[in-house]
Amino acid sequence: MSASINHSAPHTLPVTALTGIGSQSAARLEKLGIHTVQDLLFHLPLRYQDRSRIVPIAELLPGMTTLVCGTVEFTDSIQRGRPSVVCRIADASGTLSLRFFHFSVQQSQQLKPGTLLGCFGEIRYGYQGLEMVHPEYKIVACAEQLLETTLTPVYPLTEGVSQSILRKAIKQAVALCLQSDSAIADWLPHGLLQQYRYPSLTDALQTLHNPPPHLSADIISGGSLPALKRLVFEEFLAHHLALLQGKLAYKSWQAPVFQLNDTVKQAFIEHLPFRLTGAQQRVIAEIENDCRQPQPMLRLVQGDVGSGKTVVAALAALMALNAGFQVAIMAPTELLAEQHFRNFSTWFADTATQVVFLTGQLKGKARQTTLQALADGTAGIVIGTHALFQDSVYFHKLGLIVIDEQHRFGVHQRLALREKGQHGGLRPHQLIMTATPIPRTLAMLQYSDLDISIIDELPPGRKPVVTSVISSERRQDVIGRIEHWVAQQRQAYWVCTLIEESEVLQCEAAEKTAEYLTETLPTVRIGLVHGRMKAAEKDAVMQAFKNRDCDLLVATTVIEVGVDVPNAGLMIIENPERLGLSQLHQLRGRVGRGNQDSYCLLLYQSPLSQAGKQRLAILKESNDGFVIAEKDLELRGPGEVMGTRQTGQIQFKIADLERDSDLLELIPSAAQLIHQQHPDAIQPLIQRWIGHSRHYAEV
Ligand code: ADP
Ligand code: MG
Repeated sequence: MSASINHSAPHTLPVTALTGIGSQSAARLEKLGIHTVQDLLFHLPLRYQDRSRIVPIAELLPGMTTLVCGTVEFTDSIQRGRPSVVCRIADASGTLSLRFFHFSVQQSQQLKPGTLLGCFGEIRYGYQGLEMVHPEYKIVACAEQLLETTLTPVYPLTEGVSQSILRKAIKQAVALCLQSDSAIADWLPHGLLQQYRYPSLTDALQTLHNPPPHLSADIISGGSLPALKRLVFEEFLAHHLALLQGKLAYKSWQAPVFQLNDTVKQAFIEHLPFRLTGAQQRVIAEIENDCRQPQPMLRLVQGDVGSGKTVVAALAALMALNAGFQVAIMAPTELLAEQHFRNFSTWFADTATQVVFLTGQLKGKARQTTLQALADGTAGIVIGTHALFQDSVYFHKLGLIVIDEQHRFGVHQRLALREKGQHGGLRPHQLIMTATPIPRTLAMLQYSDLDISIIDELPPGRKPVVTSVISSERRQDVIGRIEHWVAQQRQAYWVCTLIEESEVLQCEAAEKTAEYLTETLPTVRIGLVHGRMKAAEKDAVMQAFKNRDCDLLVATTVIEVGVDVPNAGLMIIENPERLGLSQLHQLRGRVGRGNQDSYCLLLYQSPLSQAGKQRLAILKESNDGFVIAEKDLELRGPGEVMGTRQTGQIQFKIADLERDSDLLELIPSAAQLIHQQHPDAIQPLIQRWIGHSRHYAEV
């Protein structure tokens, strides 16, 4: 190693400074997000191999991955079946076969009787007792030559970079870091390390890359090892700090000041077909207060399905319009965007405001006209899907962004929007609305950059949805119930669910169900909506349902969010066992919107485990989205609840939400400590863990 390495900090040193890493390997490592020596240090093993001891052959069991050492008894080619070479080795305790399907002549000549061989691989049952298939092997003079003093790390790889290249490079990186305490800065305050009994950063990295053999590989991956906990803690902290920094950065911009005149506000409210609830009024006041400040608002409104979030957004829009600014409202689906479009068009019909609609489906001349109206300021409110935030969309004077049903968008998408719509040095205010209550511990990774308002009251007269859990064996009874229901002039939904991955299958299932129900219920007018229909078709069906020209709407989970038809008071959900409780609660929120009785029938596929039934029973017992979300978290774990499997969610380097969620509650106080006493640690921590994800860095 060259002398200059000693004097540079590893976080700035390129990986090419290490022996064995040329520019080609460096380019390949970039695919793993590895640019510097520090990045290598944080490229942690997936698992470990134990080459620190040799296991006597007699003690081998199938499934073990171990090191053995023995003398070759014979090597033979087998022609029967798939050609292979079998080599039998023996130690003092027994014999073992090694089997190779790919082999060269030299290879089989090397494995001469009497040769001492060390082998590492997985043991399995073969034709003649235990065998190893394609073990790594090495010819040695004595068994001791094989032994390693630490567990052997197995790293995540990328094409063209082998385990041994990575191991060698990371060994050097760790050695560099051990050379001096200042080689890699430990940004966690000393007091904190003591409080949680965490090792220093250098010790933690040393332990994880080269664990002493007395630690079993399982203990390490089990997540209880302080060395790992410390790093996970640091990673969570970095994400939390990044969101907080994003907030501070955004708040340091100027925003337009909205002063809503009371007469205008009262006139608008009096025109609504209902009176605002106390909770709605309180949240509106919180928003008004935010928008009176010259810094941009970043506010999340949480309210259970049906709590009336849309009208709260409408009042925020009124504030912006009144001050001469435009409003963009983004919904996660076309259906929901259309519904908002209708609501806003009605609510703002008496004002001079032009409300326009923009989705990816809008093409040609109509699209041009809409874009023009946004660019020249003729349009005051635009409602649409994420197409709103494409590069081709320009705003004349955007003052407020509303994002509805945030749970459908990832954190990164949300942050990306902040760059949109700057105007004369002013940044728009942001209002985010969600019906999914994220449990408190998870909120800090998802929402810690937002101020939170909660609508904790439903409009008066709402009755809880009566929910039953019914076996699919009683499907005919359920169908009979629909007929009876429709005869009473009420409408109903039939929701077909399938595993999320296959939208095609889900739509097919909905089509089949609609056909079947049409045959079985000739007096019932049946409509169908699913995700693969054209927007205009969907719209026509939904409109027919709203107009009561259709009694039963068969749908996929596209209707999950926001659809609002108060006369529809019965919902059948097929295969509810395949969905999360929070999602079921969202779906169920489509009924119970009027003040009549409403019902939800969870038609599960029989047989269902006892646990599965208990899970569904939670919906029977509770109508409170917060309670349901907490239970969901308990039963399914945080990964599922936060939807980490969806794209756009937080990607961790080493943390695992399922395994490490107990650490989350320690994070806010640690972040506060860092903010107050070690602000210089903030940027380096973010850089270390998140560095290259641009949306955190740029907000
Ligand atoms: P969500 O919070 O689920 O988005 P919506 O905004 O769609 O709920 O409102 C649900 C229904 O309740 C709509 O029909 C809406 O017009 C109605 N609504 C909203 N606020 C009130 C209120 N204060 N009183 C009565 N009905 C209301
Ligand atoms: Mg809504």
